[in-house]
Amino acid sequence: MRYEDIRKSVSAYLDRTGYAAMDLKYAMFDMDGVLFDSMPYHAKTWVQVMAETGIPFSEDDAYINEGRKGVATIELAVKRMGMPEMTKDEIQAIYDEKCELFNACGEAGPMNGTLQLVKSLESHGVRMTVVTGSAQQSLLRRIESAYPSLFELDKMVTANDVVHGKPDPEPYLTGLHKMNAKQWEAVVVENAPLGAQAGRAAGVFTVVVNTGPLPDATLRDSGADLLFHDMDEFRDSLATLFEVIRNTVNENGRK
Ligand code: MG
Repeated sequence: MRYEDIRKSVSAYLDRTGYAAMDLKYAMFDMDGVLFDSMPYHAKTWVQVMAETGIPFSEDDAYINEGRKGVATIELAVKRMGMPEMTKDEIQAIYDEKCELFNACGEAGPMNGTLQLVKSLESHGVRMTVVTGSAQQSLLRRIESAYPSLFELDKMVTANDVVHGKPDPEPYLTGLHKMNAKQWEAVVVENAPLGAQAGRAAGVFTVVVNTGPLPDATLRDSGADLLFHDMDEFRDSLATLFEVIRNTVNENGRK
């Protein structure tokens, strides 16, 4: 991406937040569709489990709801259809089955290019953790083997650490708190509309890599500060991003 395009994004971020400048030292990575190429399995198994329960739900619905807690996704889909409310136990049973079906899909591989991106960020001195709406143990356990010693997993945020999942800012605010980082010192790396909303609402510069089928406009409208089409494109722009950050100051910045 060109210097000028990145400069405009950083400048707009500083105007919006009132910060005087960025100083990129931390990155908070989403998991599904960012660390792992797991979204096709999630979409397929969401459609399957919802169909078995009689709840209309498409693969696009799965991508649009990505990042939301599983239980909340089911509650919303039920409400949308004007169906009678389900008990907490009924909803949990549906989600448990979804997790079982997902586990039976086999291992989702790491997302193409993410390892190189993460290593590149590390070489710039950036400290990283994971902030996910997932509670899928089968994937969470594999982060360390796919990305050895690259993420500070003692500071990871999962569905179990927050009351309000994405698009609420709580997951990313919790991540900042655990990393002891300020908003202007961090970036969020996301792939999903609700994740982008959460990153923006948390006041953090939000990079979205569109690794799925949704149109770019959906991700831009959700609050992406920068939008890439794959991890390599993001990595190729990293040196420029750091240069822009060094050179861009908000003269009216008060924070
Ligand atoms: Mg995701």
